[in-house]
Amino acid sequence: MTVNNPPSEYALPHLRELSGYTPGFQPGESGWVKLNTNENPYPPSPAVDEALRAAAGDALRLYPDPRSSALREQAAKLHALDVSQVIFGNGSDDLLNLLVRAFSGERAVGYPAPSYSLYPVLCGIQNSDAIEIPFGREMALPIEAIGKLEASILFVTSPNAPTGVGFANSDLAKAIEAFEGIVVVDEAYADFAEESAVELLGRYSNLVVTRTFSKSYGLAGLRLGYAMGDASVIDILDRVRDSYNVNRLTQAGGLAALCDQSYLSAVVEKIKRTRDFYRAEWEGLGWFCYPSRANFLFVEPRNAQGESGPEVAQGLFEYLKRSRILVRYFPSNPLTRSFLRISVGDEDQMLFVSETMQKWLKNA
Ligand code: PMP
Repeated sequence: MTVNNPPSEYALPHLRELSGYTPGFQPGESGWVKLNTNENPYPPSPAVDEALRAAAGDALRLYPDPRSSALREQAAKLHALDVSQVIFGNGSDDLLNLLVRAFSGERAVGYPAPSYSLYPVLCGIQNSDAIEIPFGREMALPIEAIGKLEASILFVTSPNAPTGVGFANSDLAKAIEAFEGIVVVDEAYADFAEESAVELLGRYSNLVVTRTFSKSYGLAGLRLGYAMGDASVIDILDRVRDSYNVNRLTQAGGLAALCDQSYLSAVVEKIKRTRDFYRAEWEGLGWFCYPSRANFLFVEPRNAQGESGPEVAQGLFEYLKRSRILVRYFPSNPLTRSFLRISVGDEDQMLFVSETMQKWLKNA
């Protein structure tokens, strides 16, 4: 039999056109100041190393605990929830994917935009419509438009990415009350914020909160995240996930990190101090910078003539790149194209960024 069509034509029609997620550039060689994917500049708790060594070796012959029981118990204790309200995944992306798979199908998914660019990709995979609710420049939660949204899931990233703006629980509560469906508050950056929607879980059974180990815990390479919600919602996700979705090393390392809350707080406090220092510094240059509750700053640079705009932002982005500093530029949305998102690095990295910006201002 001769095959006339390329084999990709056998794929589901909606997948043939799908554009996958574009991750931030991961350079293959060292020598970069890497502030483009909101990783933690500090190493994870030393307890993680020890736990990983202990878990490696002969035990790797065996499958991991399919239910990540120890992790779930520890996270439930940390957030004063029942174990049945917590589920772990291979990064929080795994859980976001499971949520879309389990709760959208061919129904729509909505989210205020700009936000995390994975959401439309997850919708594309499931053939669900992605409905973007545009933020205004002030980046307040568009509660009225959320009330009119017809969708099965609403994603709210809080603190939001790429702006860093955190939403008050009082506003999140209004959005949850206004929306008929599952509300997912993506709290990837919540450890750097003042408030958490976990406190609302007792009031709203349609609320799911997701967390990651990739940012505050400094474990992006381990791939671990979790979701919290009503036991009936978590049970659905539990049935949909891969049986062994969190590997043995990740369970061991993640548990050690979760148990070392004092290390976590020390790292988070250091990052918040650096963040607030540089926000003030850049505002001192006359650059607008959203008040960040995350581990990155979203800043609108101005050139030596005091001008801002897409050319200025892109010009600085390229100047920084030539100086081996990687940050993120989002040219596709009018609300983001005059800004750069800069992850908060350690003090030396941030000083280098700041000095390089000064050079750019002098040379331009
Ligand atoms: N949510 C948001 C808002 C993010 O920015 C990220 C990081 N890219 C994630 C989730 C993904 O986290 P993880 O590494 O746990 O998959």
